[in-house]
Amino acid sequence: MIYCPDCGSEVPSNAKFCPGCGLQRSTPERSPRGRPIQQKGSGFGVAALVLGIVGFLIGPAAVLAIIFGAIGVGRNRRGRGMAWAGLIMGIVVIGLMVLFWVFIGSIFFFL
Ligand SMILES: [Zn+2]
Repeated sequence: MIYCPDCGSEVPSNAKFCPGCGLQRSTPERSPRGRPIQQKGSGFGVAALVLGIVGFLIGPAAVLAIIFGAIGVGRNRRGRGMAWAGLIMGIVVIGLMVLFWVFIGSIFFFL
């Protein structure tokens, strides 16, 4: 037995329409108000993105952005775009920092 996503009444699994409200069943096998419960868990992606942005100002945050980004990419589907963004941003920031310090170092080296 399944449940109508609109009115919540029971619908025989072979029925094409809900007997309660007449809603046509488009996607079968869903509980009432059914929606995959993977909503949460995008926290790592958000954290990675924020830390990536903060990393432009505070270098060490970029390291955390990479860590959180890697966790976010591996863990959840929803926040994956943000996790990737944070991960890439962290890498870019660290790359820029390395270039910056190599640049500074080379100046001092040639002085
Ligand atoms: Zn219904």
